[in-house]
Amino acid sequence: MTLSVEIVPLLADNYGYLLVDGRTGTTAFVDPAEAAPVVARVRARGGRLDWILLTHHHGDHVAGTAELVAAFGAKVAGAAADAHRLPPLDRALAEDDRFELGAASARVLATPGHTTGHVSYLFEESGDLFCGDTLFVMGCGRLIEGDAEAMWRSLAKLAALPPATRVWCGHEYTLANARFALSLDPENEALRARAVEVERLRMAGRPTVPSTIGEERATNPFLRAGEPAIRARMGTVGASAVEAFAAVRRAKDRFRG
Ligand code: ZN
Ligand code: FE
Repeated sequence: MTLSVEIVPLLADNYGYLLVDGRTGTTAFVDPAEAAPVVARVRARGGRLDWILLTHHHGDHVAGTAELVAAFGAKVAGAAADAHRLPPLDRALAEDDRFELGAASARVLATPGHTTGHVSYLFEESGDLFCGDTLFVMGCGRLIEGDAEAMWRSLAKLAALPPATRVWCGHEYTLANARFALSLDPENEALRARAVEVERLRMAGRPTVPSTIGEERATNPFLRAGEPAIRARMGTVGASAVEAFAAVRRAKDRFRG
């Protein structure tokens, strides 16, 4: 394995990720919502933390950064566009930049929509995507700053990645997302099977990440907003792809399942 990924649950429902390049031991942490559990995990692994990778500026993705920098001397990478509201950056990144983690390498994808400066990290060799609050398992982030068109373009960019790409997202929102997805797409057999599977995982106290791009294309109602069955239910037959997506996003904002 060229890149190992460990899930570190943070706060109530956040996920941070500890990445280790197996060839050099170079270590990074994605989205430290808080410091203490990350410090403990890094110490347990020998105390090496070279980099912190940030997807966006929200507190539940960056709040542990300063303490990790102080504890381990880690450097910080994040979106150049948000340098003014992220913790101080040692590397400011933009679309298509490469970020080297030892011998592993990530391509930076601009994925605005949840926030205007949101970025995702794609380790192409191992097929690992860290997408913060853009794409969730069977869901997507709220449009806090971006508009529907920006988010739709970001989701389309992620959906076009190879189907085996693992999706490591920023939150465990999967059960609520599955209930909403089933309300729009009840005849979707892949979705029904996936909903049973994630229920089983959560009952056992296990995370539902990673998903894959292929699973998301088959089950995620935001990626599937243009499917005839969902258009019929949402009243968006004949509407543009962006409008069909925006209608699903509005329905989710109202959904009380
Ligand atoms: Zn956020
Ligand atoms: Fe978040």
